[in-house]
Amino acid sequence: MTKTATTQALPSTPEVLIVGAGPTGLTLATQLARTGVSFRLIEATPGPQYGSRGKGIQPRTLEIFDDLGVGERIIANGRMAMPIISTAPDGQVTVGGAVPDALKNRPDIPYTTSLITPEWRVEEALRLRLAELGGTVEFGTALADFQQSIQRVTATVSHGDTTETISARWLVGADGGHSIVRKRSGIAFEGETREEVRMLVADVAVDGLDRDAWYMWRHAEGAVSLAPLPSTDVFQLQASIATRQNPELSLPNMQAILEQRSGRSDIRLHEPEWSTLWRANIRLVERYRDGRVFLAGDAAHIHSPAGGQGMNTGIQDAYNLGWKLAAVADGASEQLLDSYEAERRPVAASVLELSNARLKQAIDDKGMSPRRDASTIQLGVGYRGSVLARDDRDETASLRAGDRAPDATGLATADGERRLFDLTRGAGFTLLAFGTAPAVASSALGVRTVRVVAQSEGAAAGGAVDVVDSSGQLAAAYGATDGTLVLIRPDGYIGLISDAGDASSVSDYLAAV
Ligand SMILES: Cc1cc2nc3c(=O)[nH]c(=O)nc-3n(C[C@H](O)[C@H](O)[C@H](O)COP(=O)(O)OP(=O)(O)OC[C@H]3O[C@@H](n4cnc5c(N)ncnc54)[C@H](O)[C@@H]3O)c2cc1C
Repeated sequence: MTKTATTQALPSTPEVLIVGAGPTGLTLATQLARTGVSFRLIEATPGPQYGSRGKGIQPRTLEIFDDLGVGERIIANGRMAMPIISTAPDGQVTVGGAVPDALKNRPDIPYTTSLITPEWRVEEALRLRLAELGGTVEFGTALADFQQSIQRVTATVSHGDTTETISARWLVGADGGHSIVRKRSGIAFEGETREEVRMLVADVAVDGLDRDAWYMWRHAEGAVSLAPLPSTDVFQLQASIATRQNPELSLPNMQAILEQRSGRSDIRLHEPEWSTLWRANIRLVERYRDGRVFLAGDAAHIHSPAGGQGMNTGIQDAYNLGWKLAAVADGASEQLLDSYEAERRPVAASVLELSNARLKQAIDDKGMSPRRDASTIQLGVGYRGSVLARDDRDETASLRAGDRAPDATGLATADGERRLFDLTRGAGFTLLAFGTAPAVASSALGVRTVRVVAQSEGAAAGGAVDVVDSSGQLAAAYGATDGTLVLIRPDGYIGLISDAGDASSVSDYLAAV
């Protein structure tokens, strides 16, 4: 099919125009595609890009990928808990990367460690999923300009020599750090550029090193590391650059840096397939929204890769915004969209703080910051205090509305044993009704009720999905007693908890959404 034919088949008045098909834009498009919201996803480059860039997928993002139906594909192209072998200047070797003890054997956490895989593999998996759902990426199509009225955003996009006008209800700028959407919206990108903090990054084939671990060498001149990229034949080389002079992105220079800092002349690099010079830009937008225009991903926040957070945070922006756009397109109040910035900007601010701390540590240690622990795996990201978080619990409760909805295993259902995330996958809102909790009137949002009982003889009849929680794992994870109601949002966060079993509080919540 020619590009013109493809373009003609696409709506000129979609609900959403997404600019940029990196991980953020692709996640948003996938989510909209599965909820049946019309959208266009435009991408300026002529085709997919194959540089590795972000290579760490955090456990929280893996949960999102599982929900979107891309988890297995992404995991098949990656490696969990890759050992990290770090050599200090005095030759001392430490090994990291293992699953922390506190996260082992946890039924509430399906993924306990980050996955290493190149960013382009993530994009590829999302594109395939998008295609399965009937969506497409319009490569070679760039946003040139846009204006908005109270009702719509009118955008001019260019494909080669031709231009097209698209009128969308909302426009989402997922167009990366140089975002034209952010600039045209006049939204300040506050922060700093640190020219003295730079890193040479390249995808290279390597002889003389096994592919079982990520190797790092610390040195007075800065660190160098080689991480094998699963599902490829190459390693990602990273070398911090302390001088203000631009280093050559050439093979001889990379080889020289590696030999000087590792003391190993037996490791031979081949001509890089891709390389870049990363500069420390640490910035956060003053606001995520201008009327009908939203920013997500690197367009809204950029920071150091230390801690492996950037791509993950963008994907989670999209996941937060996607269900809200779908709900409003389906008749929910436009006010729901205000919660996007309120929930996501504080998360980005704390990610910046974390990655700055990791960057400082890396500079001080003349090393890199591969440490992955509770602060980097993003399972603690939550929205307590949000307008979308309501409960009747007190401050001492360990699980509150706004927290990530925990998983649970060993649930007996009519279809066999399941984990909770099997039941919530792709389901919109899910209401867990424990024991004798009252029925809740169905709402326009299509809430799925899961009635949870401890023993099979207590299972309720009727249309609800019945789950027997004989080990009590589900009740324990939610601190639930007989009668507790828990409403889980489409993005896997707890919207409401009523230990009092107040069905009207659930109806009120859904009516407000
Ligand atoms: C060396 C390095 C290592 C990293 N390591 C990690 C890591 O381990 N973990 C992690 O989470 N993150 C990491 N990151 C960060 C990660 O790469 C980014 O956060 C991520 O790419 C952001 O995704 P995005 O979709 O928001 O933006 P991008 O991936 O930048 O995508 C934006 C897209 O918009 C397109 N576009 C721009 N303008 C227009 C226009 N006018 N019209 C149409 N399309 C347009 C661009 O072509 C681009 O494809 C790393 C980054 C680097 C450089």
